[in-house]
Amino acid sequence: MGAIHHADLASAADIPSVDRLLNAPLAKPLLEQYGRTQVTAALRGMLDGLREKALAGILAREALQAQALILGLQDQLAQSAKSRLQGVYNLTGTVLHTNLGRALLPQEAVHAVVRALTMPANLEFDLATGRRGDRDDLIEDLICELTGAEAATVVNNNAAAVLLMLNALGNRREVVVSRGELVEIGGAFRIPDIMQRAGARLVEVGTTNRTHEADYENAINPRTAMLMKVHCSNYAVTGFTKSVAVADVAAIGARHGIPTAVDLGSGTLVDLTQWGLPREDTVRETVQAGADIVTFSGDKLLGGPQAGLLVGRADLIRKIKKNPLKRALRVGKLTLAALEPVLALYRAPEFLAGRLVTLRLLTRPREPMMQQAQRLLPVLQQALGQTYIAQDAPMFSQIGSGALPIDQLPSHGLKIAYAGGGRAGRHLDRLEARLRGLPRPVIGRIADDALWLDLRCLEETDEAAFAKQLEALAE
Ligand SMILES: *Cc1c(COP(=O)(O)O)cnc(C)c1O
Repeated sequence: MGAIHHADLASAADIPSVDRLLNAPLAKPLLEQYGRTQVTAALRGMLDGLREKALAGILAREALQAQALILGLQDQLAQSAKSRLQGVYNLTGTVLHTNLGRALLPQEAVHAVVRALTMPANLEFDLATGRRGDRDDLIEDLICELTGAEAATVVNNNAAAVLLMLNALGNRREVVVSRGELVEIGGAFRIPDIMQRAGARLVEVGTTNRTHEADYENAINPRTAMLMKVHCSNYAVTGFTKSVAVADVAAIGARHGIPTAVDLGSGTLVDLTQWGLPREDTVRETVQAGADIVTFSGDKLLGGPQAGLLVGRADLIRKIKKNPLKRALRVGKLTLAALEPVLALYRAPEFLAGRLVTLRLLTRPREPMMQQAQRLLPVLQQALGQTYIAQDAPMFSQIGSGALPIDQLPSHGLKIAYAGGGRAGRHLDRLEARLRGLPRPVIGRIADDALWLDLRCLEETDEAAFAKQLEALAE
């Protein structure tokens, strides 16, 4: 310890050459793993840093030992080779967490994606005729079967579906929307902005809390392209409220020969109440109610890959598919490969809650979560030491992604509080950061002076690895 003596300091001339280090036997495995180009570049950068230190008179001689240099190099190469997109544990309690990648795909979808990635496929090739095909043909029939719609198409996400639909059917014309439905969905998706970008003129009707049939009726004129309803994702209007049901808006539209579009947002394909979940209109019900076009997401309640589905009247879908934006917003083969087996699961609704991961997590009973909490509690407390107190606790999960924003699912998990008095916030922030720093980061949620780890999304298959990793927290 103490100040470095002059004799222990290195000068720039002492720094070994790039070639000498690359030829050292220790460097051989690095060259084999990462290749000469990458290793040389990393080494150059490292030696430049050392040279600067030497010139500043702060480079210790021992830092120049070949072994230390190569180990440093190895760390650096391993660090930069690490994927930036990492798997995490979602213990936030929000099942469809947009920032954590929303729906998890079932194995069938994973296999189909691997096949599509590693084999040529009939993406736009009609195997019956040997002619060029349309990628939508791969899944259109299945979507129609599940929704009762005449026709369907798929684009990159639901925001793209809404943009495309508005541009294809409403460009330079008017689209009528209730003021109670002019939503903003996280991440810069606002109906008025999308409308403007799509070239459609927004005609707002009604008030924030109440819109009547006459409001739609009175807004219709020769420039009206469409009536539109938007799902109230992420919020609820309660109290003295009135909105007009899809069936009634569609009836007004039909009387005037104007199509009605519905942006369902999450868009479920099945009645969720059969599993004790809150009610949400299905796509089929919305089509049956008379909506001419319905748009919804692939990776929300549907439980598939990121995608935007548009279903509805064949003539309107045809028009939408002809729009040049369709080409710009189209999905790739990986999306289609993943979407098909997910949709196919809906043909056997009796197995859905077991096979569709999203639904399995949403319907997970509290009992197994309570047992998990009991098993994990001692491991967690051990890892936390005496600074924090963990206990198992009931909590509430939410579906997420704007579906049923006010309904909460009874859940169970671990609740961690700071053991000392006073500034608990800083200590909880620190613990939260440590959990985020684990090899597979653990993402929880801070609320009411505690850090909450909701176990709903920690399936039994992941539990052992999760518990094992907690040991790293103690270090
Ligand atoms: C989520 C949502 C969108 C956006 O869907 P993405 O698939 O995320 O692009 C649009 N409208 C509503 C009503 C939504 O809930």
